[in-house]
Amino acid sequence: MFNEWNVKHPIWFASEDIHDADEPYLPSLFEESFFQWGQEASELASFRMGQFGIYSKDGVCHATNGLHLDEYTINHKAIIQSALIATFENNEINYHTFNDVQLIAIPIQRRNDEKTFAVFVYITTIEATINHAEIQSTALHYKSCFYRSFEQLFVKDMLQYQQRTDKEASRRDALFLIAKRLYDQIDVTSVLSEMLHSLETLYPESEINMHLSQDYVDGDPRVKPLVFKNTAHDIVAQAFLDGKPAKEYDRDGTMRLAVPMSGKQAAYGVLCISIGRGKWDDSDLPAFLLLADTAGSAFENAKLYEQSNLLINELRLINDMTKRLNQSLRVKEIFQFATSELLTIFEADYCCVLQLNKETNQFVVKSGNIPAIASEAFSPEYGFSGIIYRTKEPLIISDYWNTRVVTSKLMDNTGSRSLIAAPIFVDGDVVGAILITHKIPSFFSYDNYKLLQVMSTHIGLAVTNASLHAEVRRMVITDNLTGLHARHYLNEQIQSRQRKDPFGSLILVDIDYFKRVNDTYGHQVGDRILVQVSNIITSSIREDDIAARWGGEELAVYLPGIRTEKALRIAERIRKQVAEETDPTVTVSCGVSEWTFDNEKISVESLFYRADMALYEAKNNGRNCVVVGEN
Ligand code: GH3
Ligand code: MG
Ligand code: MG
Repeated sequence: MFNEWNVKHPIWFASEDIHDADEPYLPSLFEESFFQWGQEASELASFRMGQFGIYSKDGVCHATNGLHLDEYTINHKAIIQSALIATFENNEINYHTFNDVQLIAIPIQRRNDEKTFAVFVYITTIEATINHAEIQSTALHYKSCFYRSFEQLFVKDMLQYQQRTDKEASRRDALFLIAKRLYDQIDVTSVLSEMLHSLETLYPESEINMHLSQDYVDGDPRVKPLVFKNTAHDIVAQAFLDGKPAKEYDRDGTMRLAVPMSGKQAAYGVLCISIGRGKWDDSDLPAFLLLADTAGSAFENAKLYEQSNLLINELRLINDMTKRLNQSLRVKEIFQFATSELLTIFEADYCCVLQLNKETNQFVVKSGNIPAIASEAFSPEYGFSGIIYRTKEPLIISDYWNTRVVTSKLMDNTGSRSLIAAPIFVDGDVVGAILITHKIPSFFSYDNYKLLQVMSTHIGLAVTNASLHAEVRRMVITDNLTGLHARHYLNEQIQSRQRKDPFGSLILVDIDYFKRVNDTYGHQVGDRILVQVSNIITSSIREDDIAARWGGEELAVYLPGIRTEKALRIAERIRKQVAEETDPTVTVSCGVSEWTFDNEKISVESLFYRADMALYEAKNNGRNCVVVGEN
């Protein structure tokens, strides 16, 4: 009847005709047109004397002005059926009589191809006089009534189609706008609220809910967590698990439709609409599904964007921290910096860094913001650092008060309930532990825990770096054989002390006839004696004094804040001890010099020069003696 071709090629519908495909529409058209015709034809004599009826090809009578066919005798039924068959076959008017009745069957033909699609039947008693002309013209009248009804239906249909198309077009526009707005949002919360707002505008008389996994529930009462209890009776869970829409009706006819919100990687939740009876049009379903998918994708985009932002921030933090950690080559400084940095990053209440002292085998608090345990030492089995030492793994405790795996002075003293902690490794060994706490339970997220793990690795690397640096420096400033300082270190130290102290003394020590010792006992024994003399010197001086290997078998001691009288006594003590304790026995000669604040020219060179002169004199005086140089 009406199709898209008519829309594209609008022609006046009067030339439209019924088609075979229109059969479903025919019964109601027959009824309606017969009723109209009956109103207009009721004045006719024939109308009162007999019975009109309209029949379709299958023999069904759709309307009559009198008794229904079933109420005729079985014979009447048979005569009408044979008249119908004849009329549909020959497309002509057929006249029949049978016993007490006579009837006329007039074909009703299509306008375009004159195919008979119905038969107009008049039946009356055998005695009646039939006005053939009247019957035939009223049959034509009926036909025009039929086409009038048909044309009305045609127009109605066209209008409905038009309205539907308009509605679809406006829905499409609305959807397009919503999709665009959704994709404009870059954070999850905005996607959700935009989505809910749009749906409430599209379906004003409905209740919209979103069911999402726990992570994204943000306080909006319309956004609910996705739960999987009683899944057989819960259409939300069904929609999520099956990945298809699920629908149910309340007793009052309210429809609940649950549609999964999927992105490219996963389903993120379920969109649910509750809408009253008659307010929902099933033709809206595809659009609704599309919207849920759009929301799923927008949600996914926003989620990925948020995640990548978090990652970028984390990397930035790690990068900043590593850079600053590596600026320091002192372990103590590294720990202090790490403490303040970690407190800020994790917004924690307390932080402490412990270092394992290998000699005492104890964890010592090296930095932190908890005065009660500052510098305290713990056994490596104790508390959370004990767990970390044992497992070599990081740790997260959501509530210390509920899960008291160990007793912790840190937690008890600070009233903390949440904890994240991680080991500090150097060369695969646990050398320390970082403990970070908060008074609120479950304060730290899993991401915090992972981040601390990464950061502790970097702190470990910085500690390794600093330790290596310290070791290299120690090697550089230490003489290999004697364990005394190297000559350049002594020079540096004298210079730096001269800036601070009012005076100081230098002792030069030279082994007497050492060449001979070497020649007699060999170089190895010579070396051993050199070490013995060095040890005697080290044991004769204070911690602050600096002993160094000045040259081959010449040793030097700088005594900060000491004048020659005292330096002489120390040199004498050394000389005496060497003569008594070395084996094979050697003696030493010493030259002493001093500088004071009021010397005109203070230089390391002159200090050495004068000590060297005194030493030369000591050698000349017969060796195994001490000479104090002149200022
Ligand atoms: P004196 O100082 O009393 O005038 O006589 P000396 O024989 O000690 O003379 P000098 O100080 O000129 O000689 C230094 C000798 O010390 C030369 C060298 O064989 C020896 N010597 C220098 N460094 C070392 C060392 O590291 N090990 C050993 N075994 N011998 C060394
Ligand atoms: Mg010498
Ligand atoms: Mg010598």
